[in-house]
Amino acid sequence: MRMRLLAVTAALAASLAVVSAQNAPRQIALVVTGGTVVTMDAAGRIVPNGAVAIDGTDIVAVDTAEAVAKQFRGRETIDASGQIVMPGLINTHTHAPMVLYRGLADDLSLTEWLNKYIFPAEAKTVSPEFVRAGTRLALAEMIESGTTTFVDMYYFEEEIARETKDAGMRGVLGQTIIQFPVADAKTPADGLARAETFISMFKDDPLITPAVAPHALYTLDGPTLKAARDLSKRYSVPTLIHVAETRDEVQTAQERFRGSPVAYLDSLGFLGPGVLAAHGVWVSDADIAILKARGVGVSHNPESNMKLASGAAPVPAYLRADIAIGLGTDGAASNNDLDMFEAMRFAALLHKHQTIDPRALSAKSTLEMATIRGARALGMDRTIGSLEARKHADLITVSVSGARQTPMYDPLSHLVYVSHGDDVQNTIVNGRVLMRGRKLQTLDEQAVISGARAWIDKVRAAVK
Ligand SMILES: [Zn+2]
Repeated sequence: MRMRLLAVTAALAASLAVVSAQNAPRQIALVVTGGTVVTMDAAGRIVPNGAVAIDGTDIVAVDTAEAVAKQFRGRETIDASGQIVMPGLINTHTHAPMVLYRGLADDLSLTEWLNKYIFPAEAKTVSPEFVRAGTRLALAEMIESGTTTFVDMYYFEEEIARETKDAGMRGVLGQTIIQFPVADAKTPADGLARAETFISMFKDDPLITPAVAPHALYTLDGPTLKAARDLSKRYSVPTLIHVAETRDEVQTAQERFRGSPVAYLDSLGFLGPGVLAAHGVWVSDADIAILKARGVGVSHNPESNMKLASGAAPVPAYLRADIAIGLGTDGAASNNDLDMFEAMRFAALLHKHQTIDPRALSAKSTLEMATIRGARALGMDRTIGSLEARKHADLITVSVSGARQTPMYDPLSHLVYVSHGDDVQNTIVNGRVLMRGRKLQTLDEQAVISGARAWIDKVRAAVK
């Protein structure tokens, strides 16, 4: 009898345990809770007092703080009250190591700036050590200002990839191909061989997407452009290129090829899905139609375009054509920082000013360009760009409770017209916290800054 009673008790206890396990919150890695969650999903869902549940590298739930607390318990919790929680920003065009040329030469046209300062400085200073020091500085700045994915075009791209991976950042990184001899390649053929080696080194990396980066049509001949595009097609990796940045480039294309930059690239069979065209300032309606038909993504860089007086890209027309257009900072030498919040504000204001129409680019469209539309431009919108279950956990929290940010009526308006990069409090990439409460977790900030300062004299001497 007693044995039977024990057995019954044990069975009852077991079934109770099952019931309570079903009700108990599942333990996961991290919950970011208490903030206003701006998801940037297709429905534009915004959750006041919301939470994002993260396990491993991915988001497992986005809901109210209460609903998430019922389902999940984080081994770690980040309190985001008084903050906006949003997808990390996607910088679709930069040259990370060029932060070491920040402020080196200002107030010049692109042609003069490139030929008198940047190309000569690069010829004398670019090396693996230079690229590593510059990339670490750029990574610190990007993580601190809320960027979680960046697109890069530079030399010694494998060094950039290693630093990016070590810091835990996501990158679409393109090895530059250019016609004249540069630090990492004597000939374009050397550059192509380097790009191929680079692709094989990082092809299936969870954070790094290797890419091929032919510089531009005015710095490359037709056969090299074709070879660069063929290489990226062969390995199914992105192709990054500057397109129609200045009127000079359009004139060059007209004189040499009797067509626009876009038409010329199309005549080579260059344009197609996987191509990301930086700038696209000087394009006609016919060019936009070609870019749309070929599935080309575009990167808009308002600050660099304004600073070099390159012109204003027809962003409203790109949006009307539903082109995948993202935002970028370009290199810090022509910006002079990597703050994507500034890029958003400049974009929204530039196109209102340019068209004399305050509706030309709304806060919402601008935010989309910096997140989900930027992800689409990279062909990565299924995995990043919005806060949704099963996407990678790439997110930031942005303080909106200080004097400058008070009061807040509309979170989307605040993120574009009020927020600064310095307002970012926490940066998470692939489920890993890279900045917690404004303190970098994967980089030693002081070491990074002194490592960058060590290059000042060499850079200055290179342009004397
Ligand atoms: Zn550029």
